[in-house]
Amino acid sequence: MSPPAPPPCGRFAPSPTGPLHAGSLVAALGSWLMARRSGGQWRVRIEDVDRPREVAGAADAQLAMLRACGLDWDGEVVRQSARGALYQSALDQLLADGHAFVCHCSRSALAASGGIHRGRCVATHPRPDPAIRLRVPPDTRIAFDDGLRGRIEQDLWAEVGDFVLRRADGLWAYQLAVVVDDADQGITDVVRGADLLDSTPRQILLQRRLGLPTPRHAHLPLLRDAAGRKLSKSLGAQAPDPADPLPALRAAWQALGQWPFTADNVQAWRVHALERFDPARIPIADPVGASPTGRACQHD
Ligand code: GLU
Repeated sequence: MSPPAPPPCGRFAPSPTGPLHAGSLVAALGSWLMARRSGGQWRVRIEDVDRPREVAGAADAQLAMLRACGLDWDGEVVRQSARGALYQSALDQLLADGHAFVCHCSRSALAASGGIHRGRCVATHPRPDPAIRLRVPPDTRIAFDDGLRGRIEQDLWAEVGDFVLRRADGLWAYQLAVVVDDADQGITDVVRGADLLDSTPRQILLQRRLGLPTPRHAHLPLLRDAAGRKLSKSLGAQAPDPADPLPALRAAWQALGQWPFTADNVQAWRVHALERFDPARIPIADPVGASPTGRACQHD
């Protein structure tokens, strides 16, 4: 008999690079609804591995906005900056198993040789601060069934190559940290924005190399500004007002393709939303560049 399936558990994992803008609220609300409608847990993790990009006070502002929106979470908020030992032990395992290697290539040397690291270092001399990469052998094709978008497949060797786990500046790469944390936190359902679709095959490969389970995935539509750009903190997208979160919740609900309804306070809104939420209505209208194929990735 196979072991019982773990209870559903979703998560929201913002990087503290600015306040929670309308686009991230779509991801937060979508993953909260998906988790809560099936009686699952929902966790919050602050992804603050990239300290130089962190904005002071942003994590607290993001948590305050989640609270104001009634998006309650289970357990303690986890911060990646405090979890280096976990990432190190995963990295040690990958190095010991021969899946990871030390890489002295500089960005410019790699760019000059086509930009993708495939099996062979192009560095001519050692650097004092080498990166560590995951080896991606030829013909590494990763496929998964996205809960909203269906079958997604990527040839990691051709399109991504050996990717960074620990950066030359000593910082942990997003791909490693997220995989270690999702497993450690018992996440069964990763529901996030479609801008991360192209990271998923890398994360699945890492899960396999580390012997970790692969969660289910669903990638939500992205909110775009009038010029078609993804709304993001870096574009200075206006943050919803925690003192009056209903307009932002309604906009996120609409972005998730749900039927409008009226409610005059957050508590009532939350109850109605949970009753009415229909994942089948979430649009999959493909945001520009959502296909994993050939996308530049900000999370490399
Ligand atoms: N920290 C990432 C971001 O804010 C999200 C990571 C994830 O959901 O896997 O874009």
